[in-house]
Amino acid sequence: RAFTGSLPGQGRVDELLHEAHARYAALQDGVVADYIPVLARADPDRFGLSLIGVDGATYEAGAADDAFTIQSISKAFVFALVCEEIGHRAVHERVGVNNTGLPFNSVMALELNLGSPMNPMVNAGAIATTAMMPAASHDARWEAIRNGLSRFAGRELAVDTEVYESEMRTNTRNRAIARLLEGYGRLERDPAAIVDMYTRQCALVVTAHDLAVMGATLADGGVNPITGVRVVAEEVARDTLTVLASCGMYERSGEWLFEIGLPAKSGVSGGIVAISPGKGALGSFSPPLDPAGNSVRGQRACAFLSRALGLNLFASG
Ligand code: GLN
Repeated sequence: RAFTGSLPGQGRVDELLHEAHARYAALQDGVVADYIPVLARADPDRFGLSLIGVDGATYEAGAADDAFTIQSISKAFVFALVCEEIGHRAVHERVGVNNTGLPFNSVMALELNLGSPMNPMVNAGAIATTAMMPAASHDARWEAIRNGLSRFAGRELAVDTEVYESEMRTNTRNRAIARLLEGYGRLERDPAAIVDMYTRQCALVVTAHDLAVMGATLADGGVNPITGVRVVAEEVARDTLTVLASCGMYERSGEWLFEIGLPAKSGVSGGIVAISPGKGALGSFSPPLDPAGNSVRGQRACAFLSRALGLNLFASG
């Protein structure tokens, strides 16, 4: 079940990961996100890859230990944690599983669908999902989210307060989205408090290595292959990967699936996690983004590795 299953061996996987890094390290396409002012300071040349098998085997190339904020990739793991708590039916009823075909922070997508966020991987659906995490208090809800994401990563994750504060000063759209959800009766909690929590979850600091461990936990049916801890049930891991396949790369999800054939999630600080069910996951970090908000080098590296390692889910051999 490891990446090496039908391949020449671990040495070959390591070689291919380094080849993916070398191929795209000099690529200059894409622009670093600046709508969250602090993110504009990211070094566009940083590029790290980490590949982790469900057997725990770890391969790294480049800046796999660079720290960056998880941003939208948190949406995948918060969705999994909330499904674990209240079941996917309840989450599905409220947020749906269809792609919006519109940018991740679209207000129009919410209006067009009469207040239904469509899916948990765009901001409206993610804000509604964060609000659904059951807890006795606001602080307990935040701890459930932070601890849950930490269990996926296998280490305690902390917030980058500078990024959090920078986004809190500029996240007017997300505040509007939360108010609109409230207006449609789809957000029972205080919209300001939930946007604050959503912004915190996006500001948790990870590395490409952490993303690979988090993804490998979904690949491994919910068990973290490094710590051996079960984080979510097998069905929850499956359901999360399904939503990632249709919605993980925003309005480019179809093109991504067509090109790469794997469930994945991206974030505006340049992270991507791509998951090969039953095999493992790739974590990537490179700040320059395409117009949809997906890391350019990360996409190219995933496409190369999916082909070289034979990971496309739709290939028959
Ligand atoms: N915190 C960011 C936002 O809500 C996350 C977006 C992203 O990574 N695409 O705008």
